[in-house]
Amino acid sequence: MVSKSPRRPRKADTPASARDLPPPGLLQSPEQVIQYYKRMGLEVDSSIPIEAIIGANPELELRYADLGINDAYIKKIAENRFEIGVNSKHHPNRQRFSMAHEYGHYLLHRGKIHEMPEGEQILHRNGDRNRVEYQANDFAAELLMPEMLVRKSFRSSGGSLKKMSDTLCVSKEALKYRLENLGYKVT
Ligand SMILES: [Zn+2]
Repeated sequence: MVSKSPRRPRKADTPASARDLPPPGLLQSPEQVIQYYKRMGLEVDSSIPIEAIIGANPELELRYADLGINDAYIKKIAENRFEIGVNSKHHPNRQRFSMAHEYGHYLLHRGKIHEMPEGEQILHRNGDRNRVEYQANDFAAELLMPEMLVRKSFRSSGGSLKKMSDTLCVSKEALKYRLENLGYKVT
């Protein structure tokens, strides 16, 4: 008979990252990010703790400021150090998407960050035609709304957009877009 062997307890002085995980800056997909931080012991319950994910990365600094019409920015502040700025006046759910978008730029487009403007307005819908922006948006949507979590919250909310957006801590606008991408009909 084959049975699952019990998990060996982790040695406290050997973090998983040091043994078999890549450096956090080399993660390439939202799924990798989530798996990585779960293994690092970050609690992923009903919503993705994006602020903690950014906070746990020694190469990143998060700053809140009144950015006027802009949502967010990312800039290089030193070798292997980047600052992500988020508009302090925005709703927390919008801030979460903005920081996930900038985090996407950090992981996917790090070599191009010097070409990026000081700040940006992030459009959720009707695709930004710029490929880099499009990729960062997709990254943010998949990171904050993994398919499993979306399906789970769809079931537990009975399909209520309001309840789902409260559970996942995302704006209804971003959620609608993600639901449509996952094949849900949003009315
Ligand atoms: Zn962007």
